[in-house]
Amino acid sequence: MKIDEHITGKIKNARKGFALTGAGISAPSGIPTFRGPNGFWKDKDPFSPKSFRENPQLVWHWHEEMREMMRKAKPNPAHYALTEIQNSFDDFAIITQNIDNLHQEAGSKNVIELHGNIYRNKCNECGKKFGEIRSGEIPKCDECGGLIRPDVVWYGEIIPLYALQKARELVEDCEICLIIGTSGMVQPAASFPLLARENGAYTLEINKEETVITNYLDDSLFGDVSEILPELSKTLL
Ligand code: NAD
Repeated sequence: MKIDEHITGKIKNARKGFALTGAGISAPSGIPTFRGPNGFWKDKDPFSPKSFRENPQLVWHWHEEMREMMRKAKPNPAHYALTEIQNSFDDFAIITQNIDNLHQEAGSKNVIELHGNIYRNKCNECGKKFGEIRSGEIPKCDECGGLIRPDVVWYGEIIPLYALQKARELVEDCEICLIIGTSGMVQPAASFPLLARENGAYTLEINKEETVITNYLDDSLFGDVSEILPELSKTLL
């Protein structure tokens, strides 16, 4: 499907919406997707509370590696175009499953991080929040002495409740939902566009290939996000 008047009309006529983004939007920045061909995540999956309990130093080290890899990445044209699209709305949020901070670096506001942020940390015991820590050794909390861990959501953990609450509010009251570079296989995020559609929103997916939710959405644009989103943004000017 091409970007046609039907699609641009739907977007231009909407006032309120959100985008759900996944690892695919950061792939053109050089950050491999979870299930992609690059083996970056292979020896590291899954991060879980169990793996942290069993070998906290190793899990800390993996995150250090990941942070270094993400630090080198810069926002790509898809991130910038999404910021432009966001600015063309009265009210538009970005719900991301990414932890790489690239939406914020591209100037996007109102970014809801479902899976946390690789540059933040928290105490595994008391929950005290910490900013970025660069240390080869796993640090300890100055409050309670507990181990400090990255403030990201691991396999088997629940999404931060404030993020879930915000996402629910958006799903219940929006006119448009863009689903960008996500496989639709990670819950609860994958259910947001489906619920938004049930509530009357127009749903448009942008992905390099069909996903498990393609057939449940209004329209899909297949191709590279870093080409499609700038094109889409241009047609909205
Ligand atoms: P995923 O890896 O399961 O899926 C990525 C999707 O993006 C796929 O559907 C793929 O077809 C699509 N895609 C890849 N490159 C693309 C491109 N250039 N243009 C268009 N589409 C493209 O990712 P997910 O669904 O986001 O879930 C994996 C989990 O792993 C997430 O929850 C996330 O927290 C984590 N993760 C985060 C990052 C990051 O922060 N950048 C990277 C990898 C994984």
